[in-house]
Amino acid sequence: MNISIPTPVLCALDTLNAAGYEAYIVGGCVRDALMGRTPADWDITTSARPQQTAAVFHEYHTIETGVKYGTLTVIVDDMPLEITTYRVDGDYTDSRRPDEVQYTVQLVEDLRRRDFTVNAIAYHPTVGFIDPFDGQNDILQHTIRCVGDPVQRLTEDSLRIARAVRFAATLGFTIDSETASALHTLAATVRHSAVERIAVELKKLLCGMNVRYVFNEFRDVLSAMVPELEVSLLNADLLEKVEPTPLLRLAALFIGLDKTPQEAAATAVNALKQLRLDNETIYGVERLVLFRDYPLAANERCILRLLNRLGPRLATDLIHIRSAFERDLDHDSVLSDLNRLAYSGRYRIQDLKISGNDLLDLGFTPGPYLGETLQRLLEAVMDGLCPNEREALLKLAGERKI
Ligand code: ATP
Ligand code: MG
Repeated sequence: MNISIPTPVLCALDTLNAAGYEAYIVGGCVRDALMGRTPADWDITTSARPQQTAAVFHEYHTIETGVKYGTLTVIVDDMPLEITTYRVDGDYTDSRRPDEVQYTVQLVEDLRRRDFTVNAIAYHPTVGFIDPFDGQNDILQHTIRCVGDPVQRLTEDSLRIARAVRFAATLGFTIDSETASALHTLAATVRHSAVERIAVELKKLLCGMNVRYVFNEFRDVLSAMVPELEVSLLNADLLEKVEPTPLLRLAALFIGLDKTPQEAAATAVNALKQLRLDNETIYGVERLVLFRDYPLAANERCILRLLNRLGPRLATDLIHIRSAFERDLDHDSVLSDLNRLAYSGRYRIQDLKISGNDLLDLGFTPGPYLGETLQRLLEAVMDGLCPNEREALLKLAGERKI
């Protein structure tokens, strides 16, 4: 089998070879290509030292991405390529990052430091595959297996624990028994890794096609990754029914908690803050969990209120999630109403044809009551009790009956 390599990548390999260095594509791109998937990015491993790589590509735009780890990003025809020097990792004292990197001229040593056999295959268009750990066979067998001794490899870098279950979920592979038993033994240590990196793995894992397998077999790892979850309640059913986007899958994870929506939302916020997820995701998950039981119906009043509380994007997300566990919800009709009403300009305070200043002119005193009144006027508009027209709204506000 040959891998069809994009021209800029071939060009980078040739350029390094012409300067007398070895160079191969390696890691995720080789794995994905062998699986018939289109690689997201192409990584190159080379015998050239970082300075030598920089010299070889001096006419190209380069970015010093990870000089400390021997990585230089070179832009070839607009394609960023990570070029990393063959290296063996030094000692790991904190089960995170090696204390130092040592370069080597042996490709096989570089492959040996990699996490899983399926990620430890190198390829060159004329040399072919360099696969000392039988990664191609593991790809055929759909197996995740550590390179070398699993206990040692997962101990020296605990992020590999999260990566193992992530790859199982995203590739649809099962984990080899020796690697699996090391995962169970070491599950609790996964939090030794930087939480940001655990969060990245968690998001990918939840969006994987085989998340059910991980939920069934590696609850211990999941609960170590997200200690706030009640593991006994983890259930892949809901998760699998919602679209594989991090927001929807994270929300589905916490919606299933056996708590009130308020408690479940608070648990989600706490867990996601600990993982230092971005605020937009945390807010989105919180709102979706909070509105878990919100009464939904295909009528304007209900949908306008939903738009008012969540905004069009999260309201759409909520309907998607809800349709995953409410069989009798007429998902399509609610969604089409929602799309229509999202442009109706009558679900936000700023859509009202009067403002706080108008209320002041009517003799209202400044303060929170002003905002509350505007919200009540908006509710009257959303409920169809008052048209969104200036005169009608002024009249209603002036009567102080609202
Ligand atoms: P993805 O498709 O998610 O990018 P990938 O295999 O390319 O998967 P990366 O995180 O981009 O994963 O890493 C590139 C390669 O570097 C991996 O294929 C693996 O060979 C090696 N690698 C990455 N992280 C580790 C680690 N923690 N320990 C050992 N090797 C690693
Ligand atoms: Mg990658």
